[in-house]
Amino acid sequence: MKIFISAIILTILISCVNYAEGNNISSVNLGEVNTHDTTKIKKSKKQWKEILNDKAYYVLIEKGTERAFTGEYWNNVNKGTYYCKGCQLALFTSETKFKSGTGWPSFYDRVKTNVKLVSDNSFGMIRSEVICKRCDGHLGHVFDDGPKPTGLRYCINSAALEFIDE
Ligand SMILES: [Zn+2]
Repeated sequence: MKIFISAIILTILISCVNYAEGNNISSVNLGEVNTHDTTKIKKSKKQWKEILNDKAYYVLIEKGTERAFTGEYWNNVNKGTYYCKGCQLALFTSETKFKSGTGWPSFYDRVKTNVKLVSDNSFGMIRSEVICKRCDGHLGHVFDDGPKPTGLRYCINSAALEFIDE
């Protein structure tokens, strides 16, 4: 009887794994970099952990914030595009990056079709969370003390981004 029950549990476990893998294949193949298709990517935390480094996982999946002045891009002035570290969707460009003095990469605008804003009331503050439209990864927050022409400051974690030179 015990063996019979174990066999059933094992069968269920195996079908779960197959189901998860099937989902992965039907959404997007991360091997081919598509930087503009916003078709949703759904992955389990376990799957994200396998493809992201610790910092990127902490920011994108756990909605963490890197310490100021520690990230790779806060003072990057090169021309190019900032892509999502999770799914390679184009999110920000160097044209809208500005020196904010905050220690995080700051932009006054986003690639509108690819970056989504959602309200975030955590930590007793009313803020707008900035997320990737394709993988729902957490990128940072947006504030209304930015420069012209938008007056916005997208405060983004370097760990959530991948910069590619022009
Ligand atoms: Zn993404």
